[in-house]
Amino acid sequence: MTDVQSLIGQWPPALDEAQVEALSTLATSWALSHGLLYLPVLSPQPPVPAAAIHAPISLFPSPFPRKLFLQAQRIQRTYNNLYSRIAMDTQFLDSVMGSEEGVGKVDEFTGQLWRGWKALRDDNAQPLQLGLFRSDYLLHSSEGKGLSLKQVEFNTISSSFGCLSQRAAAMHRYLQHSSQYFGVSEHLKPDNFPSNETTAGLAEGLAAAHKAYGKPKSFILFVVQGGERNVFDQRWLEYELLERHDIHVVRQSLDELAASASVDDKKVLHIALTSSSSIEISTVYFRAGYTPTDYPTAAHYQTRFLVERSAAIKCPSIPLQLAGGKKVQEVLTQPGVLDRFLDDTTRASASEMRASWMGMWGLDVAPDGLTADTAPGEPHGVRRARELAARLVLKPQREGGGNNVYKEAIPAFLDTLPPTERAAWIAMELIEPPAGAGNYLVRSGGGAAVRTEVVSELGIFGWSLFGGGKVEEEREVGWLLRTKGKDSNEGGVAAGFSVLDSVLLV
Ligand code: ADP
Ligand code: MG
Ligand code: MG
Repeated sequence: MTDVQSLIGQWPPALDEAQVEALSTLATSWALSHGLLYLPVLSPQPPVPAAAIHAPISLFPSPFPRKLFLQAQRIQRTYNNLYSRIAMDTQFLDSVMGSEEGVGKVDEFTGQLWRGWKALRDDNAQPLQLGLFRSDYLLHSSEGKGLSLKQVEFNTISSSFGCLSQRAAAMHRYLQHSSQYFGVSEHLKPDNFPSNETTAGLAEGLAAAHKAYGKPKSFILFVVQGGERNVFDQRWLEYELLERHDIHVVRQSLDELAASASVDDKKVLHIALTSSSSIEISTVYFRAGYTPTDYPTAAHYQTRFLVERSAAIKCPSIPLQLAGGKKVQEVLTQPGVLDRFLDDTTRASASEMRASWMGMWGLDVAPDGLTADTAPGEPHGVRRARELAARLVLKPQREGGGNNVYKEAIPAFLDTLPPTERAAWIAMELIEPPAGAGNYLVRSGGGAAVRTEVVSELGIFGWSLFGGGKVEEEREVGWLLRTKGKDSNEGGVAAGFSVLDSVLLV
């Protein structure tokens, strides 16, 4: 075992009760004063917010191998290019995600989006698209090989926690500065706290799209969920756009847009603010629309399609949202597929990117990339998933956490999965995070810190402005570390399973 691995396995340093309480007070007070916040659980949320609670946080940053952190940052530029190219490859998306040949045949949500896009794409008024991406990783420990970086998934819509993760990192830096963490570890020193300027970076992406649209007085539209509690993560972007770029933002839900949005004969997207005044939209940033529950009626899809066919730059467009499907992630691992999207600049880092992928296959096909097994009985993909269940996770084409099926739950799940729906699922080998890692976790809005075994998931943010066959500009812009108690399989912070953490480079 390497030094790094044993440090991770023995983290965090022990604190006495008084120290835990002192650090908790410093941490939550800092969070409350610096906008590391959620809205409280209230249903419905009042129209005018009156109180906030601190986000769930860890008291210590979590050790992460410096080399692997730098590797994740390095390959982000390649991922930005890769997913931009996928979104521009209509033929590929049709075959993988479409309703005629792909996942859209069996997955209703994917099919709805794809069909809506297909009906309007020949009439495209805006070649440019914007992606605000987050590529997620876990550390993988394999016997004899030490730690490596493995990708969990690549998000192309509503990639959240950029702004709050910057604040979580700043909070840990403050704890180091103010308490020196009581001198409990020599690793807790400023040099080991990497900078995190995600807010400025993501806003720069939105501002680049706004500028490319070419009407300085137009607005950026944030499409948000009704009842959203993670509003401060979104507001920080809004303030950054206003203060640094002089760009105004309007926030509306798909419900509100059904009444307020219109597209004129030049395809300009307008939002009516009153019966006599309206604003022009340059860029549409979706923090909603990634899950079927965001579209309770056909009218909600119609609103999405209205926006899609407008001249506004979409972040993401429907094709870019489809490109983020788990099925695409799996298809990329099949022989020869990645090559289709590489050029001279990205080819060089392709092997590093590929090395970060776990084994994946579709339930309806053979894991070695051969065509579907036509022999009687279950397809090879399903049989293989049964055999290897203990080391697998099954994923549908969904976002937002809570949708996957793990390990021993897999065989029973496969028994009840209608054969027609197999094509909507992928099997993925489980990443095995280093054992023994721990931290002190503080729940959102109160309660004592609990010391528990944890798993930390790194997210790297990037953006890309692209269209007409080429990538105009792209950047790697920051990171997120989410840490969850080891007993929970899923990692969604908003769902209350995990906390905002930060990286301690070792
Ligand atoms: P979502 O789009 O819903 O966030 P993910 O693919 O990120 O879906 O899966 C949700 C969570 O499940 C992840 O945050 C991670 O904790 C866990 N998970 C997903 N894939 C793996 C894997 N291959 N190995 C271990 N854990 C995984
Ligand atoms: Mg995820
Ligand atoms: Mg996701």
